[in-house]
Amino acid sequence: CAVIEVCELTKRYGGTTALDALTFTARPGEVTGFLGPNGAGKSTTMRIILGLDRPDAGTATVNGAAYRGLDRPTRQVGAVLDASAVAGGRRAVDHLRWQARAAGLPATRVDEVLADVGLSDVARRRVGGFSLGMKQRLGIAGALLGDPPVLLFDEPVNGLDPDGVRWIRDLLRGFAAQGRTVLLSSHLMSELERTADRVVIVVRGRVVADAPLAALGDGL
Ligand code: ADP
Ligand code: ADP
Repeated sequence: CAVIEVCELTKRYGGTTALDALTFTARPGEVTGFLGPNGAGKSTTMRIILGLDRPDAGTATVNGAAYRGLDRPTRQVGAVLDASAVAGGRRAVDHLRWQARAAGLPATRVDEVLADVGLSDVARRRVGGFSLGMKQRLGIAGALLGDPPVLLFDEPVNGLDPDGVRWIRDLLRGFAAQGRTVLLSSHLMSELERTADRVVIVVRGRVVADAPLAALGDGL
C-alpha cells in the first residue's frame, strides 16, 4: 500500500546521469528518509515526483497516477524544496495568500497554517527579516495550505540550530502520526535517525540500501 512509487527512474542532464533506474516506495503513516551525498539525485527525484521535471525513463506516481504539478489546483502533495529562497519583500501572511492563489487554493486556511507552524505572532512581519528556521516553517505552512496527505521535504533542517532541528522533527513525526506520507531528504544520517522510520540511501542516482532505520543502524 505504497503512496509514492518511484520505478526505474532515469534522468540525464547532458552528460551527467542524475538518476540511474532509481526505485523505491514511500508508505502512509511513515517518514521515509531519503539519504545521500550532495549530487546523489534527491532533489531531482522530488522534482520529478512533483511533475516539475520529466524523467528520461521510468515513472513516479502518487496514489497510482503521475502527479500533474504544483501549479494545478490540487490538494494531494505539498512540498518544501528550498525554503531559504523565499522572496523577502512581503509579509508572511501575504506570501501565503499569494501562494494559495498561485495554487488555486482558497486563502481561508492561511491563518490556520501559520498557527500550525508557530508563526502567528510574526504573520505581519516581512519575510526578509526571518531566520532560516522561520523560513523553513513558512515553507512548511505553504505546503500545508491544501491539507495534502503527501508531503515532500528537501533538506529542511540543513543549517538549522538544534532547537530548529528538533522542532521540525516533532512536526514531521506528527504528520506521520496523522497517517500522512512523508518523504524527507538529507545528506546526513544524523538528521534522519530520530525522525525517519525507514531510510532509502541513494548514491549516484541508484538506491544502495532501503531498510527500516533499526536495521540500518547495525550496518552503518
Ligand atoms: P541532490 O539533491 O541529491 O544533491 P540533485 O538531484 O540536485 O542531487 O543533483 C543530481 C545530479 O544532477 C547532480 O550531478 C547535479 O549536478 C545534476 N543536476 C541536477 N539538476 C540539474 C540541472 N537542472 N541541470 C544540470 N544538472 C543538474
Ligand atoms: P505583486 O503582487 O507583487 O504585484 P505577483 O503576486 O503578481 O506580484 O507575482 C509576480 C511574480 O513574482 C509571480 O509570477 C511569481 O513568479 C513571483 N512571486 C510573487 N510572489 C512570490 C512568492 N511569494 N514566492 C515566490 N515567487 C513569487
